[in-house]
Amino acid sequence: MKSHVKAVVIGGGVVGCSVLYHLAKAGWTDIMLIERSELTSGSSWHAAGGFHTLNGDPNVAKLQAYTVQLYKEIEEISGQSCSLHLTGGVMMADTPERMDFLRLAHAKGRYLGMDTELITPSEAKAMFPLMDEKNFVGAMWDPVEGHLDPSGTTIAYSKAAKKLGAEIVLRNRVVDLTQQPDGTWNVVTEQGTVHAEHVVNCGGLWAREIGRMVGVELPVLAMEHMYLLTEPMPEVEEFNKSTGREMIGVLDFKGEIYTRQERNGILLGTYEKACKPWSPVNTPWDFGHELLQPDIDRIAPSLEIGFKHFPGIEKAGIKQIINGPFTFALDGNPLVGPVQGLTNFWCACAVMAGFSQGGGVGLALSNWMVHGDPGFDVWGMDVARFGEWATLRYTNAKVRENYSRRFSIRFPNEELPAARPAQTTPLYDTMLANNAVMGDSWGLETPLWFAPKGSEPKDIVSFHRSNDFGPIGEEVRATREKVGVTEIANFAKYEVSGPGAEDFLNRLMTNRMPKTGRIVLTPMVNEFGKLIGDFTIAKTGEDRFMIWGSSAAQKYHMRWFEKHLPKDGSVRIHRFDQTLVGLSIAGPKSRDVLQKLVDVDVSTKAFRFMDFREMAVGGAPCMVNRITYTGDLGYEIWMAPAYQRLVYKAIKDAGAEFGIVDFGMRALLSMRLEKNFPTWFRELRPIYGPFEGSMDRFIKLEKNDFIGREASAKEQADGPKLRRVSFIVDAIDADVMGDEPIWAKVSKDYGTVEKPHGYGAPRFDTAGKEVRGSKAAEGASAVRGIVDGEWRVVGWVTSGGYAHYVQKSMAQGYVPAALAEDESAGLFEIEILGHRRPARINVEPPFDPSGEKMRT
Ligand SMILES: Cc1cc2nc3c(=O)[nH]c(=O)nc-3n(C[C@H](O)[C@H](O)[C@H](O)COP(=O)(O)OP(=O)(O)OC[C@H]3O[C@@H](n4cnc5c(N)ncnc54)[C@H](O)[C@@H]3O)c2cc1C
Repeated sequence: MKSHVKAVVIGGGVVGCSVLYHLAKAGWTDIMLIERSELTSGSSWHAAGGFHTLNGDPNVAKLQAYTVQLYKEIEEISGQSCSLHLTGGVMMADTPERMDFLRLAHAKGRYLGMDTELITPSEAKAMFPLMDEKNFVGAMWDPVEGHLDPSGTTIAYSKAAKKLGAEIVLRNRVVDLTQQPDGTWNVVTEQGTVHAEHVVNCGGLWAREIGRMVGVELPVLAMEHMYLLTEPMPEVEEFNKSTGREMIGVLDFKGEIYTRQERNGILLGTYEKACKPWSPVNTPWDFGHELLQPDIDRIAPSLEIGFKHFPGIEKAGIKQIINGPFTFALDGNPLVGPVQGLTNFWCACAVMAGFSQGGGVGLALSNWMVHGDPGFDVWGMDVARFGEWATLRYTNAKVRENYSRRFSIRFPNEELPAARPAQTTPLYDTMLANNAVMGDSWGLETPLWFAPKGSEPKDIVSFHRSNDFGPIGEEVRATREKVGVTEIANFAKYEVSGPGAEDFLNRLMTNRMPKTGRIVLTPMVNEFGKLIGDFTIAKTGEDRFMIWGSSAAQKYHMRWFEKHLPKDGSVRIHRFDQTLVGLSIAGPKSRDVLQKLVDVDVSTKAFRFMDFREMAVGGAPCMVNRITYTGDLGYEIWMAPAYQRLVYKAIKDAGAEFGIVDFGMRALLSMRLEKNFPTWFRELRPIYGPFEGSMDRFIKLEKNDFIGREASAKEQADGPKLRRVSFIVDAIDADVMGDEPIWAKVSKDYGTVEKPHGYGAPRFDTAGKEVRGSKAAEGASAVRGIVDGEWRVVGWVTSGGYAHYVQKSMAQGYVPAALAEDESAGLFEIEILGHRRPARINVEPPFDPSGEKMRT
């Protein structure tokens, strides 16, 4: 065993072996994988080996597609078969709602290059004759599905990595990790200490324990999972003989089961409601190639439905029931990337579908380690997406919820109840008393909307407009015409201070920093000129700035800030989280309300649009920004939590004479739509350049050499390929939710329409070939323009909904730049729940296009 390597990968499951292979392929060959036992000694050896490309997050879906296409390559390099069976598979819908869900997934596939197809139950039965098609209303066919040999595949990765120069050390447990002052690691193992620049946690079932070695509690939990194998079935053999094909994979939402052919019998697995965590606090180190005791009672309800839906299977004898543990994060997606607050400590764990995702995880992580950037939009699996609130018990509750809902529909207006309330502001009880329907915003209870007095504060979940529609309209109208107040504790807030603060921010941000007492809006881009943040910044004093941003991106942004902090201690960053909370008042009467609560002049001239002041509001020390996300005259007021109730009561009392109302997040988001304001993580993401994102006026290329300036200048000089635009949609009773395809009737061929997926750093395309130059900049995911007569899919929706004040259904999304200013009617259609609705670009915001109201 070497005593010094560039990187140590801990864990020889499918994920560790994939990371090792991708690191070696990217040129880091001085690397070592350390495995406690034999390869596949965690969950990898007893997996059912199924793979598929579909995922709720289109970016994760693309990485899954990459994984599937990689298998041929590792087979060739290693000479080891993965026993790949690319059978294709169907998802069966038993209700119209589930069919809507499949229509949405199918529509997304249109710009992701996925060849899914909506088919009838009889067509599905023809490919899987063991089903009773009468139980279903429709299905979706996905050709990129199948199964493989889990051990063979893990070995194939490991052999391919070894061929490229990587070392693998077996039967050697990592017992401790200690960081050196220079940021490198001593990896203490049973066979001695290895010094490494980087450490990767691919510990699977033990990822939590490895995290604890460096003082981190990763939000990951193992769950027991069962599948059964039948005796050989004559029906299966007969089907194979008569068609010359294997039976396909089937996913049955209602039964919460997946099933497929295994040899000449059937494999059937369940995600049962009565699910059970395994080793919820500590994973025993002596657990190895063992299985858990099957518990047929737990899966009986799923089997009952399964046997009804697939009567052919019920007749077969059960040969074996496998029960094994594997790990999940709160939302079922992996935890990948550098851990914020640590140097050179990387994660690739909580990979619940290692054979669908392992390749993509390895590729993204190796890009990140070697080139400083994952090269893809990996937010959906970034380890930074969960906060400190994701404790062991929180994780336990959420993972159980996620597991038991694995095949359930998540409606766009559905808030999930587990582990709530976690964090609350001092106004929580007041908001409940006001009949608020609460939502979870990065672990914080936040009012979404206010149900009318006497009615139950509860969402009726739906893909269509629901019971919040009327009340949100009331909140919007009262705010726009009088005044409204809302909680904004769920924004991220940071203070950057010290003699180097201004230079630091000028280096990170695309806009100029404001003068003392003023505010700017500014995007942040990475070296590749892609959007990685969007902030409001106020200069609050000499060498002192306040920053507000997206709540969910707090760790993601802190990681970036810390990476770029000068080493001389001239800049300090403080993240407030919930030690600073806020209220926003908006609407034409908001100034009158504020003036009653303060002892300073807040008239138009004395307190201008985009001004910042510290002042006592209702007697409480506060910071006040003259800005609101609603696009009205308005203010954001920030205070310590101890003052929040006092300030809220003062605002409500002062606003009573003007008819003040409470409004929630949904009204706020509706109002921003009619101002064409973007949101972070929907419109603005690291796959878009700032000019594509239509953020032109915040990009000051001439100000100084900020990170990403060169790439941004190039984007401007070349002209962006895409542009973010706003649409007015002729919707009926359902508005866009995000990810819908945008169709255009274009006589000119815009050629290949690509959803950018990867960017910047050298990396590999979906065929495993290294991509460089212009193709790399465009993204590896070649998504074809889909022809339907003259109508083509030319873009995708990022978000939208009903804009209540202007009474229009609106959407934002990306289209080819050449079409971005074409407001003609009849040019665009947006596909909502399988129906293409006419849509028209709206260049100017429909509410207050001149911005007069914000400035008065
Ligand atoms: C019953 C069942 C069915 C499944 N079906 C499928 C399926 O159909 N499709 C699919 O994609 N996935 C399936 N999975 C999930 C799949 O098994 C996992 O996604 C995958 O195995 C995760 O791989 P991993 O490398 O992250 O973790 P693991 O396989 O758990 O590997 C972690 C490795 O790290 C080693 N290790 C841990 N700590 C240390 C240490 N301190 N020092 C040295 N070594 C250490 C362990 O010994 C182990 O070998 C299934 C799982 C189960 C249980």
